Amino acid sequence: MTVVPHWISGAEVAPTGPTGPVTDPATGAEAARVGLADAAVVDTAVKAATAAFAEWSETSLARRTTVLFRFRELLNERGDELAAIITAEHGKVLDDARGEVARGREVVEFACGMPHLLKGGFTENASTNVDVHSVRQPLGPVAIISPFNFPAMVPMWFFPIAIAAGNTVVLKPSEKVPSAALWMARLWQEAGLPDGVFNVVNGAKEAVDALLEHPDIAAVSFVGSTPIASYVHETASRRGKRVQALGGAKNHMLVLPDADLDLAADQAVNAGFGSAGQRCMAISVVVAVGDVADSLVERIATRARTLRTGDGRRACDMGPLVSAAAQSRVTDAIAAGAEAGARVVVDGRDATYDADGAGFFVGPTLLDGVQPGMSVYTEEIFGPVLSVVRVDTYEEGVALINANPYGNGTAIFTEDGGAARRFCREIQVGMVGVNVPVPVPMAYYSFGGWKSSLFGDVHAHGTEGVHFFTRAKVITTRWSDPEHRGLALGFPVNT
Ligand code: NAD
Repeated sequence: MTVVPHWISGAEVAPTGPTGPVTDPATGAEAARVGLADAAVVDTAVKAATAAFAEWSETSLARRTTVLFRFRELLNERGDELAAIITAEHGKVLDDARGEVARGREVVEFACGMPHLLKGGFTENASTNVDVHSVRQPLGPVAIISPFNFPAMVPMWFFPIAIAAGNTVVLKPSEKVPSAALWMARLWQEAGLPDGVFNVVNGAKEAVDALLEHPDIAAVSFVGSTPIASYVHETASRRGKRVQALGGAKNHMLVLPDADLDLAADQAVNAGFGSAGQRCMAISVVVAVGDVADSLVERIATRARTLRTGDGRRACDMGPLVSAAAQSRVTDAIAAGAEAGARVVVDGRDATYDADGAGFFVGPTLLDGVQPGMSVYTEEIFGPVLSVVRVDTYEEGVALINANPYGNGTAIFTEDGGAARRFCREIQVGMVGVNVPVPVPMAYYSFGGWKSSLFGDVHAHGTEGVHFFTRAKVITTRWSDPEHRGLALGFPVNT
């Protein structure tokens, strides 16, 4: 059986220690094994990244961005290969995987503009004959630790910017979906990136801990569940590293009585069941205000029943969950919701699938009458389960959303501009959609939630991403002028 290797200094490194399974979620079959790096393998990768940093950080912006442009072109030409890998290991339908690649490519395109993004400021004659200018410089080797649900896009939120800014990278992808990272490493090599600038170590907790503890890792970008994000943030911060750790989510869609209910139902289905609900920006709770609830629930249910679930390589709308454990977690959550009194309007546990073997499927599920105290509401389910919470007023809906510990994404559906504007101001969530259910920002804005959805101050990509991967230096200059000679020990003031 194939063992997915590590990628260090521009070459595959065959794992020598323990391995873990890589499954095809649509069939349930083990498709490969993946090496699980220990601290020694991580150290080799970090050493490679450290050695490469010396030269890469000194390489001109013109040369660095030439490599970025080539990487972008190759991704454009061959992105379908990457999409096929994503579908095979994650399970999402091919179209969705292509969308993931396209959204990742947008960050590469943003990073191609690094010469502009790194431009500092210049102030002439700030004090008499004194000029001041600012620059941003790379940090060193940085670690990227990514989740299973976006094997290509989430790493691409970070590495194009890190690399274009002159850093070197050690990527630790999710051990459930390791092959996309290897494919991208080979593409970098083809694009002309020097060996050691982009490395991949496969593995799980041991590899993560080794990266967090490694003295030569300057910064950590992590994406995953909230408990691990919190742990990563705390552990790496204690080591003096710069950290951004994006966590879990529970995203609400508030539907006001004046909303276009057909549009709202379409979007609730797209955002709730796309990628089988395994998106950090998936809508998991529909908050129906006033008397729209019955009509909205009926519309969502009608649409959910038309979805075809099956192998993402076939003509389906929705693929499987990533693992047997995820499948059980989701079916348990549905059972707990029903037990607590929610009405199971559409039951994904009864669904049929277009797939061979024993894949990890759960069909689209709609629960009505969900109450905030139920576990199906409080826990992140990360599966194709939409909960409907009924409230009487806009204010009650906003209070519910603001009381939730997560603050990743949210959306309001209404035809009332004033209500939408008020919502955008009052809601305590990092990414907000107005009649847009999955408001993932463009690459030139920054991606990130509030509260338990992000640990650290800085969001991903956009100018915040550029700032994360660089540090600022301000230079104050005075060229020799006889007038400045002489001793003066007071604090310098501007004259
Ligand atoms: P996860 O937290 O299980 O794993 C994320 C990464 O952490 C993986 O690389 C994994 O190997 C590593 N890891 C797992 N357990 C660890 C441990 N005990 N110690 C150290 N490292 C560990 O998350 P997942 O299941 O791969 O991904 C789904 C989660 O990610 C969901 O909670 C989802 O909301 C979240 N997510 C958030 C965003 C965001 O932008 N906020 C984006 C995508 C996914």
